[in-house]
Amino acid sequence: MGTFYDRHTDVYDRALGGNIHVGYWDDEADESSMREATDRLTDLVAERLAPSEGQHLLDVGCGHGSTAARIIAHHAVKIIGISVSDYQVNLANSRPQPPDLPGEATFRLADAMENPFPDDTFDGAYAIESLMHMKDKAAALGHIARVLRPGGRLVIAEHGLEGELNGLDAARMADAYAYFKFSLSTDRYGELLREAGLRLVDHTDITRNVERCYDSMIRGWRDAARKGDGEAAGDWETAADLGEWFFCKVPQLRYGLLTAVRP
Ligand code: SAH
Repeated sequence: MGTFYDRHTDVYDRALGGNIHVGYWDDEADESSMREATDRLTDLVAERLAPSEGQHLLDVGCGHGSTAARIIAHHAVKIIGISVSDYQVNLANSRPQPPDLPGEATFRLADAMENPFPDDTFDGAYAIESLMHMKDKAAALGHIARVLRPGGRLVIAEHGLEGELNGLDAARMADAYAYFKFSLSTDRYGELLREAGLRLVDHTDITRNVERCYDSMIRGWRDAARKGDGEAAGDWETAADLGEWFFCKVPQLRYGLLTAVRP
């Protein structure tokens, strides 16, 4: 997984306007740029966390730190971000943090399924497009519940599969999962959160608002294929071919914002 993001981070960053997650557009008439739209997703997550001054937040699967950077630019909070990619952690830690920023952030290499932090460490946590890669979501969510203080919130921004999967091309699905390191199952987040001791308070389906970004992602992969040579070019071409089907033609693929609370 770490190696995947060591390699993919720059391509995603370019295609998604500096973030490594989808963008959010209000409607067809919304002309926001990719940067504005991907920042807007970060803002929606932060709004749901509603952090107050001095709070400690955990960024689960922090990417190259762009999300935390935006949150600490607007909120006086301390964020610790974890990622399994060395490359991302180095990029995140070398982002300039001017002293006049309201908040601060640090980043380290750690696996969310073996979350190293002590119990009751954080006032809030968020996981943007990271749980989709984790095979043991119950372990990851169990740890998040453990490291949250009572009353602490978890906000998840994530792909999920919903409904009947019978009509899906199983072989193509397996290829997409292997390539993108996905580990999605039909939407069970409500159940998993409950089992982890968290209470789901909101689930908003925003598939329609985010789907515009997939074309740009696919163009990014085709572009990487053109610039790469030999094996690398073939690999990016595979990403684009699989992505064109998985992200654009599978109606069961949904995108949701979930808010949960540790009672
Ligand atoms: N949340 C970031 C990055 C999303 S990319 C953003 O919105 O920009 C997915 C991230 O999940 C990567 O940083 C990857 O390293 C991380 N990730 C995947 N599996 C992980 C695990 N088991 N533990 C911690 N991070 C993980």
